[in-house]
Amino acid sequence: MQKLKKKLYQLSITEISELIKKNQVSSVDIVNSVLNRIEEVDSSIHGYITVDKERALERAQEIDRLIVKLSPDERPPLIGVPIAVKDNICTKGLKTTCASRSLGEFIPPYNATVIQKLLDQGAVIIGKTNLDEFAMGSSTETSCFGPSRNPWNTDYTPGGSSGGSASVIAADEAICAVGSDTGGSIRQPASFCGVVGLKPTYGRVSRFGLVAFASSLDQIGPLTKNVTDCALLLQAISGHDVKDSTSFNIQVPDYRGYLLNDLKGLKIGVPHEYFGEGLDEGVEEKVQQSLSFFQNLGAEIEKVNLPHTEYAVATYYILATAEASSNLARYDGVRYGFREEEFNDLIDMYEKSKQKGFGAEVKRRIMLGTYVLSSGYYDAYYLKAQKVRTLIKKDFEKAFQKIDILLTPTTPIPAFKIGEKINDPLQMYLLDIFTISANLAGIPAISIPCGFSGKGLPIGLQLLADHFQEEKILQAAYAFEQNFDIQKDRPPLNRSENH
Ligand code: GLN
Repeated sequence: MQKLKKKLYQLSITEISELIKKNQVSSVDIVNSVLNRIEEVDSSIHGYITVDKERALERAQEIDRLIVKLSPDERPPLIGVPIAVKDNICTKGLKTTCASRSLGEFIPPYNATVIQKLLDQGAVIIGKTNLDEFAMGSSTETSCFGPSRNPWNTDYTPGGSSGGSASVIAADEAICAVGSDTGGSIRQPASFCGVVGLKPTYGRVSRFGLVAFASSLDQIGPLTKNVTDCALLLQAISGHDVKDSTSFNIQVPDYRGYLLNDLKGLKIGVPHEYFGEGLDEGVEEKVQQSLSFFQNLGAEIEKVNLPHTEYAVATYYILATAEASSNLARYDGVRYGFREEEFNDLIDMYEKSKQKGFGAEVKRRIMLGTYVLSSGYYDAYYLKAQKVRTLIKKDFEKAFQKIDILLTPTTPIPAFKIGEKINDPLQMYLLDIFTISANLAGIPAISIPCGFSGKGLPIGLQLLADHFQEEKILQAAYAFEQNFDIQKDRPPLNRSENH
């Protein structure tokens, strides 16, 4: 075997796929390398809730027996690749907790469609990653298992809610991961951890087996080390599913075919509403720099308006909480969820089970959601929010009539410290300002690294496209990644101040 410069756990999907094609590594080698890495670093990152060590190794052995039966060209790109899964996506026989006490012991009897697709293509599930409870949050601090930490500096949050998935990719504790994004939960942690994260168009990927948070907004998507891996993983999980009536029955393009190093004629819109008050100077500087970079690659930059942006946070937190309050009603301790052992009657049992089963943030959302749906307030809040959602959608429709993609910062600030914002929910919600509009409009958006802050924390830029045009943002992201030297101001990982 040719001597590798990198350790196996540091490789991308693309690199592993090449080595597997040439019979230069086995899946067992890769899985062992990733498991050792987890052993070595996860006690300081806490990216995983469950590491499925034994089954991952068994599966890798099984895959290795399969690999030898296939000719190199018959080996799918994900064959033998260890993948981490956010712990709100159902995995048959493997605990799926949603980082909630209420589902702490839940072992799904079936696989989510995305999991089945990944397994059909030879992937190895290595474990389940930490998240904010029921994906409600922006820092993994609402997890009942405690927060994950940012590998770039363990005093800082990796973001959320897919903070576990992003941190394990940044710390090389998995080759790739899947997460879910309802208001930014893939893109925000990707940006905080310096990895690539994509929220697909609403309807591109099946949500069958994703524990529902806000059903009109939720999507599953990839978190990866680079854009090519992102395209490969998106390809693997996309497509219509009869088990999810919101998934679209339209052809999935060959995403990898769009990864060209050429952006001539691409029109990039820059919405000025995303560059105002509250945007950190360092973030602004890096995003502006990237704009001139895109220009040098042949793209044309145009100013656009998304006038209803300022209402996005309020609209989202009405609709998402309304949907959450309805979706979470099922965890009553009867068929699903934690049940308090001692109670007086049925109502008392419900009350005690929910009181102990849910954490503070989930309770806050259920109360907010119940309030905005209640008969006296429905029109003033829920109905109005639906109307504003339409206006936000129309802003994008109008913009995409004259431009191909939009470019914005992913988040107004780089990662913040653990504990810094958890007691101020409004501050936390406001940080979602740049990511939630894509969910409200149902359009695809990607976050890719574009530099580092003065404190050595990653900064992400966001690219958005019209419905089912993931290939456009992948193409732009790929060209940027190929030409932009992100390594030049890259600080070492784990520069913790206190640890
Ligand atoms: N941070 C947002 C929230 O708290 C988004 C969460 C998500 O996308 N799951 O709701």
